[in-house]
Amino acid sequence: MKNNILLLLILLLTHSYAVHSAIWIRPNSVKQGEVVILSGLYYPFEKGNVSFLNECKIQFENNEYKFSKEILNWEEYIKSQKQNGFHFITRIPTTPLSQIGQKKMTLLCPNGSETFSINILAGNFTIQSIKLSKKKNSLQRTEIEDKAVKKAINTFSPNKLWDDSKSWLIPNNARQSASYGLRRKYNGVLAKDYFHKGIDYAGWTGSPVKSPAKGKVILLGKEKEGFAVHGNCLFIDHGQGVVSAYLHLSEFYVEENQEVTAGQLIGKVGNSGIATGPHLHFGLYVNGQSVNPSRWLSESTP
Ligand SMILES: [Zn+2]
Repeated sequence: MKNNILLLLILLLTHSYAVHSAIWIRPNSVKQGEVVILSGLYYPFEKGNVSFLNECKIQFENNEYKFSKEILNWEEYIKSQKQNGFHFITRIPTTPLSQIGQKKMTLLCPNGSETFSINILAGNFTIQSIKLSKKKNSLQRTEIEDKAVKKAINTFSPNKLWDDSKSWLIPNNARQSASYGLRRKYNGVLAKDYFHKGIDYAGWTGSPVKSPAKGKVILLGKEKEGFAVHGNCLFIDHGQGVVSAYLHLSEFYVEENQEVTAGQLIGKVGNSGIATGPHLHFGLYVNGQSVNPSRWLSESTP
């Protein structure tokens, strides 16, 4: 309660001077592929006046991101008893293609704008040298899968479904055979826009794939229905722009639109689509960008 009063006093004293008086950015420094969280609290005495942050957006790397409402109104805020409960949150993804160094993030609101500084550190991703001809490697995705996957990874549903007090579960128990962010060199030349968009687990055919967190199946793609590259694949929406992906499966244990819990069996490992052998490719997307799932699997994520 003491903390709440202090927080309200700070808000009362500062809210009218600048847009950022109730905005937090954390952490201030991330490695390429990690997520920056920008969160805020609207002025709590003006009931119903949530436009302050609701109409704001964040610009970063030529993309625009919107805030999600964490708690809908002041009454719910009191009920929730979260002493530092944030009302609005947005997750800004960085990738191996993000430029390293001190970068700017701009918060644009109807009543003004503020700029935040974020330090992006090198992810030091492994570079894989491939001697095969480029032509042989650029196997074409079909239009069907391209469209469906693009739609799935850009899904934005307002409510957070995962339990933010726990880390996510590992989707397959096998060793990791390829890490996130791996870059490729074709005949000595770095493929400019390529990076490995997930973690590969070297599970044998038929080994279980489990949902790492609560969510809803939004896409179930089948190799025989045109998913030539991804093979049999699943995409799960975890809410607030967070979507996970499971590729090259041999079997499905869920259906489209089905809700899944953390640890639920969703499929089995296979080598459908373009795969050099049986493995699970596990990807994580935040607001449409592929991010590094590692941290999500080792610590709780807000
Ligand atoms: Zn992979």
